Amino acid sequence: MYNISRQLNVKGDKSMPHLLISGGTRGIGKACVELFANQGYKVSSLSRSGKPENALGCVDYYSCDVKDYGQVTSIVKAAAEASGPVDVLISNAGISISGIAQDFTYQDYRDVIDTNFGGLFNLTNAVIPQMVRQQHGVILAVSSMWGQTGASCEALYSASKGAVDSYIKALAKELGPSGIRVNAVSPGATDTDMMSVYSDEVKDVISEDTPLGRLGKPSEIAETLYYLSSDKASFITGQIIGVNGGYLI
Ligand code: NDP
Repeated sequence: MYNISRQLNVKGDKSMPHLLISGGTRGIGKACVELFANQGYKVSSLSRSGKPENALGCVDYYSCDVKDYGQVTSIVKAAAEASGPVDVLISNAGISISGIAQDFTYQDYRDVIDTNFGGLFNLTNAVIPQMVRQQHGVILAVSSMWGQTGASCEALYSASKGAVDSYIKALAKELGPSGIRVNAVSPGATDTDMMSVYSDEVKDVISEDTPLGRLGKPSEIAETLYYLSSDKASFITGQIIGVNGGYLI
């Protein structure tokens, strides 16, 4: 079994395991960047804004729109040249547009599907060949409980996450024989910028409807992703793991 070595996080050290993550500048992605970097990973983060003001010195931040296949391909190549082949991919970048279905525009449809599902496709397309060559690797996606159950006024978002879940299951079947595990974490409402469109009253209602009585924290999603990336999860593949405080049971 591939054993990921834990070493001091030194920028450019190709002996360290390499995490490539989309959307590592805020919310859930930022919590992952901090956790994996602290655990000795070399981290490459891809987001449209690139390097954030509160950047971690040991992390490579690339400016990249995950909707753009060409950009993703060339930046994944550059990240692998700088930090070695990707050991763990987390496709995390996502957007949400709320509204009633009949009001969504064609551009809304393209933006949501091309970011939430297209980003996963573009990233996996870029890393799978190197993972197959190495005969190891972990692919993780950040999905959503709405992909499992559907949310009123979140029809496009729900559809995009449903596509993520199906793609993850299919990839797990296809890539298992090459030593690659593929899973998704499916968060419930989590306290990030994405939730800032909702008023405190709406957040209180969501918390009341959640058996554990609160919103999730980004660090709780990151810890689950870290577990799934580790050898402790060596027999887990093709799963959509709910981290939702019991909202969806
Ligand atoms: P945030 O809005 O806090 O952060 C989103 C991150 O994704 C940012 O770093 C942003 O950077 C990046 N991003 C967005 N669009 C693109 C793009 N086209 N290309 C590259 N990067 C992009 O979101 P969360 O942390 O809340 O969400 C992370 C994931 O978790 C998403 O997939 C979301 O659907 C999922 N999720 C979130 C829930 C929640 O309640 N918060 C619940 C369930 C799932 P930049 O803007 O610079 O590009």
